[in-house]
Amino acid sequence: MKKISVWLSDLTHTAQGISAATFPLGVSFVYSYSKKMLGDEFDFELFKFPSHLAEALNNSPPTVLSFSNYSWNFELAYKFASLVKLRNPNVITVFGGPNFPTITDEMLQFLKKRSNIDFYIELEGELGFVNLLKKLAEYGFNANKLKKRSEALLNTSYIYENRLIHGPKERIKDINIIPSPYLSGTLDKFFDLPLVPMVETTRGCPFSCTFCSDGAVIKSKVSRYDPERVKEELHYVAKKVQKVDELIITDLNFGMYKQDVETAKVIRDLQQTYKYPTIMAASAGKNMPKRIIEVGKIVKGWVLGSAVQSTDPEVLKSIKRNNISNNAYKELTDFGNTSKSNKTYTEVILGLPEDNKQKHFESLRFGIDSNVNRISMYQSMLLTGTEMSSQVHRKKFGLMTKFRTIPGCIGIYDIFGEKQPVAEIEEIIVGSNTLNTNDYLECRVMNLIIETFYNNAMFEEIYPMLRALKVSPMDCLIYIKEHPELYSKKIKEIIESFVSETTEDLFPTWEKAKEYVLDLDVINKYIGGELGTNELLFHRVLLFNEFDDICDLMFKSVEGTLKQKKLLTNAIKNYLLELKRFIFMRKKDFLTKTNSITKATFEHDFEAIKEAEYYVDPNSTTLLENPMQFDFFHDDKQQELISNQVKLYSAHAVGMGKMLQRTNMKLMFRNFVKSNQHKKYSEEIRKNP
Ligand code: SF4
Repeated sequence: MKKISVWLSDLTHTAQGISAATFPLGVSFVYSYSKKMLGDEFDFELFKFPSHLAEALNNSPPTVLSFSNYSWNFELAYKFASLVKLRNPNVITVFGGPNFPTITDEMLQFLKKRSNIDFYIELEGELGFVNLLKKLAEYGFNANKLKKRSEALLNTSYIYENRLIHGPKERIKDINIIPSPYLSGTLDKFFDLPLVPMVETTRGCPFSCTFCSDGAVIKSKVSRYDPERVKEELHYVAKKVQKVDELIITDLNFGMYKQDVETAKVIRDLQQTYKYPTIMAASAGKNMPKRIIEVGKIVKGWVLGSAVQSTDPEVLKSIKRNNISNNAYKELTDFGNTSKSNKTYTEVILGLPEDNKQKHFESLRFGIDSNVNRISMYQSMLLTGTEMSSQVHRKKFGLMTKFRTIPGCIGIYDIFGEKQPVAEIEEIIVGSNTLNTNDYLECRVMNLIIETFYNNAMFEEIYPMLRALKVSPMDCLIYIKEHPELYSKKIKEIIESFVSETTEDLFPTWEKAKEYVLDLDVINKYIGGELGTNELLFHRVLLFNEFDDICDLMFKSVEGTLKQKKLLTNAIKNYLLELKRFIFMRKKDFLTKTNSITKATFEHDFEAIKEAEYYVDPNSTTLLENPMQFDFFHDDKQQELISNQVKLYSAHAVGMGKMLQRTNMKLMFRNFVKSNQHKKYSEEIRKNP
């Protein structure tokens, strides 16, 4: 007898590169559990790329077509579901995932508006999906017959005669009942693709942030896979992985639990045996910093830090979030900064309930004063299914929102022989009871200044000196923002363009945003990068291209800040003059002029200053008796790295924006040695590349 075909997809947009370049882990768990429970009766298939799904559909559709639903792929999945239903209304469409309301009235509206969804599975998909398949089998895979009974199905919602039928909710008690999709070979075919493997060692989060769908009470219990299974999975991945250096641990609070130390030891063993992973991404826990440090000491290449989102007590209370203490945070970043292979970061969100300009600046200051390498700055998104997006919260905090296309989540797809434009739309907060439009824009300009002048080490030599003088680098960054009279004509134009792009492409409703972007001319401009770019990254590249101007602005602002604080001495002025020249030698045109050796002479011993990690007080620095000449150059390894990265990301500002965000720029700036030692240095490098 022909088996019933069931397809599961976790789609990603692909028109501007792979938008979600990760293994389809979540849906593969549903696949594995369904196969275990119903494998004899069904044929299951797994899809990630829209082109693969479209090709398979050209042959014949399945009995059940299901999709995972995230904010970054819902419209794409729904486009497929709608076109399939149009051709064959008997195909049963099932969606599941966090991008779904939690309030029953909103669920009803959601499903009414998307009538091509037959059933929606909530929470972890495994239990609800298997139960639904069993029920459908009882009714000969006739969805209407099943719906007519109006039976409440486990973890499932659907509409019958305009009523929402909403089943009881239950989480999996022991997640080890789900077979490993790695060890069963289910995910093998994805190792051939440029996707990053993900491993889940726990599910659930004990915290309750209102902006996050994992903050729901029902998801608060944390369950864990058997450590032996995790170990086997990690080894399996390391053996199979091809041209990918990265591993993602999908846990929501990695490093917070004692078992994570054991997982870290397994990863360390992989790093020694297979030289993989060189980069590990995992969200660090919001508690237990000492244990996180312990884990950070074991695993190499973990970008350490913790997202603070805001440091303000009122904001944190309104979003029901507890951050780790400031001291613990400092301890964490201090540790991260001592390790050469790790980088440190934090995340700050603008526009959360109760946020305002001053509070946002203080949150940024906290990150900078904690000496993180990078602050990722986001706008608040109202995600479906989160407490913050409920009507109650919107009203309580007076949230003002606009809609826009999610950068990168867009494309024109060939489905059933026709070109189908698709774009994902998100809702962002642009104001509230406490944040007016003007302050919102000022905060965004501040974000651009931090992105340009602080993140990714362009002026990393300056900040330790300010710290040595007990001056917060944030004061200097605010000085840049508050002194537009220091901006060159080009810088002024770029900032004006940034402000106008921050306010453009924003629409009052979801429908208007969608209508605008789906016009063929417009969507092609989005795909080509003319519209809808990440304006923060794009304008940072434009500013980087004006290196002389931003360097001037930076140094004038350092002097201005120190003058305001009555700290500017002649020794500091002299040091700043030399430091500016030194930074020029290392960083001017560092991506294009990679073959030459340039020379410059200094009165300060920059080798010793580098040794002190630039943490120097110029007032007590001894000048060299005889000025010393230094050579500035890229070594062979750097030349190769730059050439590969520039090829990969192209010379266009959009691609360069991605490169600046994803590459460790420190590895690309010119090296320097005393000229009389350059020959010796080159020989050493040749011997020990
Ligand atoms: S701690 Fe992280 S995963 Fe947990 S609820 Fe908050 S934002 Fe979500």
